[in-house]
Amino acid sequence: VVLVTQAAQALALLHLALAGGGFTAGFDSLRAGDLERDLTTLASPELEGRDTPSLGLERAARHIDERFRAAGLIAAPDSAQVYKEVGGRELPGAEPTAGPGTQVEGTYRRPWQRNLPTPDAASSLALVQGETRTAFVLGQDFVPVAGMEGQASGELVFAGYGIRAKSEKYDDLDGLKLRGKLALIVEGEPLHARAFEGPAVTESAALGRKIEALAQAGAAGVLVVRRAAPAEPEHAGEAPPTPAAPAEPAEPTLAFRHTWADWVGAPGDRPPKESLPVLELSPRAGTALLGEDVLELARRIDRSVRPVRSKQGARQVELVGRTRRESLAIDNVVGWVRGSELPDEFVVLGAHYDHIGVDARGRIGCGADDNASGTSALLEIAEGFASAGPRRSVYFCAFSGEEDGLLGSQAFCARLPVPREKIVAMVNLDMIGRGDAAEVAVLGIHQTPAFEKLLQRAKAQRSSGVQKIVMRQGEELFQRSDHYSFHQIGVPTLFFFEGLPIERNKDYHTWRDTLDLVDQDKVLRTTRLVYSTLWLLSNDDERPPRPRG
Ligand SMILES: [Zn+2]
Repeated sequence: VVLVTQAAQALALLHLALAGGGFTAGFDSLRAGDLERDLTTLASPELEGRDTPSLGLERAARHIDERFRAAGLIAAPDSAQVYKEVGGRELPGAEPTAGPGTQVEGTYRRPWQRNLPTPDAASSLALVQGETRTAFVLGQDFVPVAGMEGQASGELVFAGYGIRAKSEKYDDLDGLKLRGKLALIVEGEPLHARAFEGPAVTESAALGRKIEALAQAGAAGVLVVRRAAPAEPEHAGEAPPTPAAPAEPAEPTLAFRHTWADWVGAPGDRPPKESLPVLELSPRAGTALLGEDVLELARRIDRSVRPVRSKQGARQVELVGRTRRESLAIDNVVGWVRGSELPDEFVVLGAHYDHIGVDARGRIGCGADDNASGTSALLEIAEGFASAGPRRSVYFCAFSGEEDGLLGSQAFCARLPVPREKIVAMVNLDMIGRGDAAEVAVLGIHQTPAFEKLLQRAKAQRSSGVQKIVMRQGEELFQRSDHYSFHQIGVPTLFFFEGLPIERNKDYHTWRDTLDLVDQDKVLRTTRLVYSTLWLLSNDDERPPRPRG
């Protein structure tokens, strides 16, 4: 017996040496502190709601790159080719000849293409004082607004927040001569404890409504100072994550909002009926144009909730706002861990890292729950699997464009890095930080009934702290996240979600989805349960059957 035990131990040790630290090593490496750090970074207002695409999304992608690299994940076999394909984008820090499974730093990006409005270099902004013409810099001082294009010149008039609100007895435009002039306004609405519904942001702040009022008053063009712009020049150009990466081009300090063309906002916010040339400005550019501190003027309005006028004399300004449609490369961030015994079979873990951006009232959708929570779990589990050494290979995918219709995962499934029949299963994490503390909902059982037993085994394998797994409910959600893209190509999928029905989460897809409302302990518990589930999928002898439906 002793001998046998020793032999078994020796075998187990040998297995550990060959295959990594095993289930326990990875499980024990899942840390609340790591999850919280990633969540805090990804849900930061600095990332401006991670719209697809946006500067904030790129910042999130860099964070994911950095974590994948630190965990030692392998780049997707064709990522180098993909980089060559999209042309004009240099492969950072690596030769573009890497073969399958070659670990290449900086190539976790697997871009897909999306056609969207983007700033045209013909856009311009200048202050004209006698013979002197001071030009401002596109992307740094100002950006055009898609759908609100054209050129205009004239005298600059400060028009407060550009709000006419009868219900508040407040009118920024009252008595202003705006005909043929350019209105300079501040984003949002007066910040006051009670007026304009206090901390809530009312429809008076909607940009479309303001433009409509200014057009009716005869303005020739509008300049909007972006008050919520979080990127001050000092903080804008954070260093790239590793010294190996080449110098990034100087980042614009004022991000262009590509998807504003659709005027995404609160329900009921409409695009303006009349069009005017509109530019958005940094506060610094607004102040330079007006010759007076624009944000200080806004603060005076905030205190009094009365329109405030600028004391500056007439100043001449010329503006041109132009956008053009362009096919933009948008990144999924993808890395993998090689399996020790079945390296040519793959399990996929996915979470979308994008969110809804900034709405037309200037509110940032931080998306702490949706889906910084799932992305932080993805990163932590990836790190755990890299040290655990599963039998099958595991792909870790941070998808973009989910909020716009599963675009990133659709693109991934349309051009898989491995043969489809080699994909054993896909597990998706989307919103795991709110709802009932004791439970987690899992969809996909109806399509693959064998998963019910798998989840029970995962729950029993090691205590995650999750008390109840809700199964066979919420089928209406099944088509609404990235696992569905995999289901459509015949891959068995599981979708981990915080709880049903989704309507219980009143902050879903609003600016109220912030970090302070996320249950960090629940994120940890769910992360552990998903880790155990993924471990079984990547180590069981049998593959799950093809899904139904
Ligand atoms: Zn989501």
